[in-house]
Amino acid sequence: MGKMPVVFIGHGSPMNALEDNEFAKGWQDIAAKIPKPEAILCISAHWYGEGSFVTSAITPGLIYDFYGFPDELYGIKYPAKGSPALALRVKKAVKSVKVKSEETRGLDHGAWVVFYRMYPKADIPVIQLSIDGNLSPEEQFKIGQELSVLRDEGVLILGSGNIVHNLGLVDYAASPYDWAKEFDGFVAKILKKNDVEALFNWKQDKNGKLAHPFEDHFVPLFYLIGASGGEAPRFSVENIFAGSLSMRCAVFGGLVG
Ligand code: ZN
Repeated sequence: MGKMPVVFIGHGSPMNALEDNEFAKGWQDIAAKIPKPEAILCISAHWYGEGSFVTSAITPGLIYDFYGFPDELYGIKYPAKGSPALALRVKKAVKSVKVKSEETRGLDHGAWVVFYRMYPKADIPVIQLSIDGNLSPEEQFKIGQELSVLRDEGVLILGSGNIVHNLGLVDYAASPYDWAKEFDGFVAKILKKNDVEALFNWKQDKNGKLAHPFEDHFVPLFYLIGASGGEAPRFSVENIFAGSLSMRCAVFGGLVG
């Protein structure tokens, strides 16, 4: 098996688990175009905190970490297995920080909503690596570089967040805000150029604070760009939803078809 690509998914609303919309369809298209992974390592915006942890449960449950949605969403099951072996592999591959096991944690919605649509058979083991919010972008990037070896072992490294994410300004009737389009385009450009320095300094952009009042949905990119090894992205689902959520997805390297 060749090198697996690295994938960034703009996950948006948890309703993307249920709605047959252009976003879910875009994720399915990505799954259809890349080799079927042996296992998935997910870095999700919704596991952001202190320290680096990896899920090591054999059967991770689901975390319904959202409020005020229809009952149907809380009834979704996604019985994918975990992989204690892959968790151990991650702990060995990452040398710059200590990665600890988290044996009881399940999958957050940044992970399972995406996999429920991309791989509905739930037949691929999934683990998650937490985001350490105390690390600098450079240190997060370094972890991604250390993880890139897993791409030769059939592991799909997938980051789940949003390139623009301002929930406070979400308006389902709104057209994309100008600043949201600008920031989304700015990030797309620096990803295309693999301008890592500009990416690390995103907070200095005039739209940075509006695009991300909090950084959790942006940070998965640093890990991913580290893992990508500078390979050029192919973008899809280049939409801005509800005014202030970029749904842009990116596949770095390894695409077939
Ligand atoms: Zn989210």
